[in-house]
Amino acid sequence: MQLLLHCPQCNAALPVDAAGAPPAIKCGACGRDIALRFSDALRSDQAVDRCPVCEGGDFYIRKDFDPKLGLTIVIIGALVSATFYWFGRDIIAYGILASAALVDLVVYRRLKDVTVCYRCHAEFRGAYRRTAPAFDLHTADVLEVEYERKIGRR
Ligand SMILES: [Zn+2]
Ligand SMILES: [Zn+2]
Repeated sequence: MQLLLHCPQCNAALPVDAAGAPPAIKCGACGRDIALRFSDALRSDQAVDRCPVCEGGDFYIRKDFDPKLGLTIVIIGALVSATFYWFGRDIIAYGILASAALVDLVVYRRLKDVTVCYRCHAEFRGAYRRTAPAFDLHTADVLEVEYERKIGRR
């Protein structure tokens, strides 16, 4: 399982492999030591049950979407169709625009889900079973405040 952790002090993103992770890592940006407590389920890529950074057990699922990729497809589609439009080939122009939107949709649907920790925003990628529910704003509000108090950011 691949993790993307966030430093409690400076919020830098720190990639970690759960299978071979040490009990503590040092933040490359600010030098703070971050203790990691991996559960067996995390180590063996079975499930996300407990966050190794904040020890919270509340997660949500979101699409592992790179907004830049989707935007690039739309822009390329728009540029190509504008060229055809310029030469008076409206039908082709609209066709290309529509297919760009379609490609976008296909890319989006093929994306994998990523599990995210409500408290510290650690991200978990792997073959494990997705059990977390969808994002809930109220839960996020409550748990983020709780965590930020704990690490002294508020
Ligand atoms: Zn840091
Ligand atoms: Zn966490």
